[in-house]
Amino acid sequence: MELFRLTIAEALRLLLNKEISNQELLKAVFDRIKNIDSKINAYVTITEEEAFNRLNKVSKTSGIPIAIKDNLCTKGIKTTCSSKILGNFIPPYESTVTQKLINSEYIFTGKTNLDEFAMGSSTENSGFFPTKNPWDTSRVPGGSSGGSAAAVASGMCIAALGSDTGGSIRQPAAFCGVVGLKPTYGRVSRFGLIAFASSLDQIGPITKNVEDCAILMNILSGHDINDSTCANIDVPDYTANLKNGVKGLTIGIPKEYFIEGIDKETLDAVKKAINILSEMGAEVIPISLPHTEYSIAVYYILATSEASSNLARFDGVKYGLRIDGKNLLDMYLNTKAAGFGKEVKRRILLGTYSLSSGYYDAYYKKAQAVRTLIRKDFADAFKKVDVIITPTTPTPAFKIGEKVADPLKMYLNDIFTTPVNLAGIPAISIPCGFSKEGLPIGLQIIGRDFDEETLLRTSYTFEHATEHHKRIPSI
Ligand code: GLN
Repeated sequence: MELFRLTIAEALRLLLNKEISNQELLKAVFDRIKNIDSKINAYVTITEEEAFNRLNKVSKTSGIPIAIKDNLCTKGIKTTCSSKILGNFIPPYESTVTQKLINSEYIFTGKTNLDEFAMGSSTENSGFFPTKNPWDTSRVPGGSSGGSAAAVASGMCIAALGSDTGGSIRQPAAFCGVVGLKPTYGRVSRFGLIAFASSLDQIGPITKNVEDCAILMNILSGHDINDSTCANIDVPDYTANLKNGVKGLTIGIPKEYFIEGIDKETLDAVKKAINILSEMGAEVIPISLPHTEYSIAVYYILATSEASSNLARFDGVKYGLRIDGKNLLDMYLNTKAAGFGKEVKRRILLGTYSLSSGYYDAYYKKAQAVRTLIRKDFADAFKKVDVIITPTTPTPAFKIGEKVADPLKMYLNDIFTTPVNLAGIPAISIPCGFSKEGLPIGLQIIGRDFDEETLLRTSYTFEHATEHHKRIPSI
């Protein structure tokens, strides 16, 4: 048995029955990292010593190895956001989600690579190195949580955490053939997540199957006094209703998401998935989300505006890198020039522009108004349907280098994921097929506010009717 292939649920069962030890499990995962991470580059920091030290302090029936995206603060462990400006930053505190995992006796394998400050769709914007897709190492793993998704898909951890501002959990999950959930805004505390765009950011699980996703949601969800946007709403047991099927469920198919330009194999796989759910008793209804076409423009105005404000704090004084200069301004300029990569600078410039007087009304304020319309589209649709199904991405994983020269082309990749963040609602990506070249295809299921349960139940039903999640990359 290759222990690094286990899911959380399987590993917990084997630990409980004393069929494996948590030492063996952790060793199998670190051996796997040593064997293959030189080909994938999923990790920025590997914390083997800390992991085995911690393992001695947990019960023998726990100690699941989990990877953490490197924009989540981990006390005493370097947290870089894959940026040179935070290259030597060691947080003095623990983020809420990692603290919750520690409390549940999970063991951190390390910190995973991302597009610098989570800005990107391919992990090519990392300030250190790109991560590769385990299904085809000439392709991107998606982004920005590309390190986490690639690590899960290739067995370099049992599960991982990602963050999703405009698709960064779902899109890499789709490209790497794993499960990724972006919870409702406010479901999971953002305390200790290094902010990119605070009104859009959410943390969520990236896992090998749907059950593991539910297990992690039970741990991560819930109110936190350290995050004033975190909702004080009861957390259900997300594993309780997984097996209840989809009979009577209504699925909306938005016509705006099935348009020209989408890869044919992706469309076919998604349509097939919808048919399977319909055969299992769900009712399929065509719907319209009329403001979809504005999502990319609105997202890239609002996300960059918020980023320009959030990233002002990285000035050489408070954290990380400092490059001295003749005077204070010179020091700021030197530090930011050396510390931030090209995409981050582009976004700070764009955001500062949209927020400046004279342009604020035309761009930022307009984008906020359209955001409200996008949220209303979903609210109207959810009067008629329980979930909405779309492809996660217009194509499977693209080649490394294919889109780096054209930021607009890269941004268009987020067309199906950004509306969900703008609306603040939850969505999951699960594997629903493979292209002829053997690349995974993702199915996106979108739900009502705080109704992650229905997403998980629908996903679980589909997963158990198909074999896609069982396929693993040959690396
Ligand atoms: N790809 C999107 C962007 O570049 C989303 C990133 C994210 O969700 N963090 O902004």
